[in-house]
Amino acid sequence: MAIRKILQYPEDEKLLRQKSHAVQKVDKRIRKLVKDLKDTLEDSFGAGLAAPQIGVHQRVALVKFGQEAEGGMREPITLINPQIISAGPDEKGFDGCLSIPGIVTWDTLRPSPLVFSALDERGETFQMEVSGIDARVVHHEIDHLDGILFLDRIKDFNKVYRSIETDDGEKLVSLASLKAKIEKEIFNTPIEKVLTKTR
Ligand SMILES: [Zn+2]
Repeated sequence: MAIRKILQYPEDEKLLRQKSHAVQKVDKRIRKLVKDLKDTLEDSFGAGLAAPQIGVHQRVALVKFGQEAEGGMREPITLINPQIISAGPDEKGFDGCLSIPGIVTWDTLRPSPLVFSALDERGETFQMEVSGIDARVVHHEIDHLDGILFLDRIKDFNKVYRSIETDDGEKLVSLASLKAKIEKEIFNTPIEKVLTKTR
């Protein structure tokens, strides 16, 4: 069991924005990485986790499908060197990230359906077609392998929310309305810098 530290934005931004290298061979080292990713994802509430999020810049990610299905999320699937084969039209939907905890949106554009191929843990190629939230998870994890964060896909920060604990329970507050607080407590950087951030 090896639960690794998940890198956090903005402290670990430099590492999170680094592009990952293609895996040359699915060997023992890669299978150990997959095991660590599984242990780490199991310990969280996430639907996916990419190797760069634990500081390893190899094109390896895990995705869990079925988060909106009746039976709930399924066991994680390993994607090594994932490649998008075809992508449907962009759809607006949910995004959140284990590296950006407490911040969510329903306003990022991601394609659905999505046909992709990848290698599995035995180094064998497989192909899948996914749609809706499952396509979003795959797209989000491939973004991580390219150093892209979901914040980069947001144009309107009125539609990004932070969950705040209140006496009445959890409440979602828009980031824009929290401008002063964000600068101070969340990003520790002027919000204008965050809003205009491009890669
Ligand atoms: Zn993420």
